[in-house]
Amino acid sequence: MSIFEKILRKEIPANIIYEDDYAIAFPDIAPQAPIHILVVPKHPAKNFSDTAQWSPEARAGYMQSINQVIAQLNLTDGYRLVFNTGEDGGQTVDYLHLHILAGKAMSWPPF
Ligand code: C5P
Repeated sequence: MSIFEKILRKEIPANIIYEDDYAIAFPDIAPQAPIHILVVPKHPAKNFSDTAQWSPEARAGYMQSINQVIAQLNLTDGYRLVFNTGEDGGQTVDYLHLHILAGKAMSWPPF
């Protein structure tokens, strides 16, 4: 089982800043920006591609959770959302998670 599933099950503590029926959000342990939050869905998925199999309710719920976390963070100067997916995408934890990065001006491309 992945570390994020253990956090979802409350088997491992995390500083959860947001939780609803669809997701939890907590700070990344190794922040890559002044604000770096992960949004982890309660509906299981290994990566973004797996969400193609989700019900419309599960998808809408996760999207709404993401919106709520962003609103709570009050990111008036902007932010970046990242789903690292698979080997080339740089995914290291095998359970879906969205990165919210903010608090500094970011460059493009990101590699
Ligand atoms: O997208 P990727 O799979 O690479 O992201 C995993 C993220 O999970 C990393 O940014 C890493 O710092 C974070 N992490 C964490 N807490 C852990 C293990 C990893 O926040 N216990």
